[in-house]
Amino acid sequence: MPNVSHLECSLCATRFEPNQIHNLCSCGGTLYVRYDLPAIKATWTRNSLRSARPDLWRYLPILPPQQPESIVSLGEGMTPLIRARRLGGTIGAQQLWVKDEGLNPTASFKARGMTTAITMARELGIRKIAIPSAGNAASAAAAYAAAAGMEAHIFMPADVPQANYIESKTLGAIVTLVDGLISDCARIVAERKDREGWFDMSTLKEPYRVEGKKTMGYEVAEQFDWELPDAIFYPTGGGVGMIGMWKAFDEMEQLGWISSKRPKMIAVQAAGCQPIVQAFEQSASRAEFWQNASTLAAGLRVPKPLGDALILNIIRASKGTAIAISDEEILDGGRELASLEGIFAAPEGAACVTAARKLIANQFLEPTDRIVLYNTGSGLKYLDAYSPRK
Ligand SMILES: *Cc1c(COP(=O)(O)O)cnc(C)c1O
Ligand SMILES: [Zn+2]
Repeated sequence: MPNVSHLECSLCATRFEPNQIHNLCSCGGTLYVRYDLPAIKATWTRNSLRSARPDLWRYLPILPPQQPESIVSLGEGMTPLIRARRLGGTIGAQQLWVKDEGLNPTASFKARGMTTAITMARELGIRKIAIPSAGNAASAAAAYAAAAGMEAHIFMPADVPQANYIESKTLGAIVTLVDGLISDCARIVAERKDREGWFDMSTLKEPYRVEGKKTMGYEVAEQFDWELPDAIFYPTGGGVGMIGMWKAFDEMEQLGWISSKRPKMIAVQAAGCQPIVQAFEQSASRAEFWQNASTLAAGLRVPKPLGDALILNIIRASKGTAIAISDEEILDGGRELASLEGIFAAPEGAACVTAARKLIANQFLEPTDRIVLYNTGSGLKYLDAYSPRK
């Protein structure tokens, strides 16, 4: 199944050999996995998905492992796309859906990236991984490393949600709490990895987490019978989900599965950490480091996303936008989604509720647009944030 043709730098287009251990390009760009799509198209059809396994590995021909035996899976992906009629009624959206990623293993969409990254680490003979994480990536890395029998070294900000800390420890990872932000955790991993023999699994610093996350794009197309929605609201921290979905749309068009029509891609950030919103509003091509980043939506506390240029390009190419939501509005949105639809969302996903309400109210979107909100995780990971006793 040698479907991967090569790896390619997302910034300078330099080519790299597949089946070798890679981190970034020498120019600093993230490496994308490229497939022999014309050959895949000849043998793999949308219809063949009818009998495919009910998780994200149903899309195996456009996923990176050479050997199916390498796959480390906990049943991730194929999350429900839920019609949200009651919430839609209150925010003025007649065709509103929630893609509920909280139902993944370890209760967030980070499982998608880790199933592919740990699978490839296993295939390439890596034994020890290290990762900086603002929360859910740690839980997912710990879980998949455990399932693969690998050693996981995790560095998290000391004020990370308790659930992520306890979960990662229980899953057998070696966890270090750092007095600082995810950017400080990343620096520690970079400084120590060579000496310790760790493979750096940081967001976008290895090629394979994007590949798992892109399946959110394949799934939404499949669940909508190959007609993409008009708008996608995506809570953007590192932006990997957005980058991955955009890559998926391109691949699917080349496979002849969808048209050239794209959803408006809407990056939702927290008011206390909005580097992408600021760069978008200033028409900048890169984001600036956001000082004193602070928000209870831990996954959005990324002061300087490595993929900033890619994210900004996607927002502009799709005629989307970027919008910041305060923590108070995030929790209001979360309570509304929970009480109207029965979905207890992570604050990151909850931010999309308020964002959608605002962009319909200001007529950026039409009431008849088909809109999908990505709830990237479960509210159960954030009981402190939702606690009514505060
Ligand atoms: C990590 C995370 C995000 C941000 O994801 P990116 O794809 O890196 O932007 C959003 N929500 C939750 C719950 C997360 O854990
Ligand atoms: Zn490059």
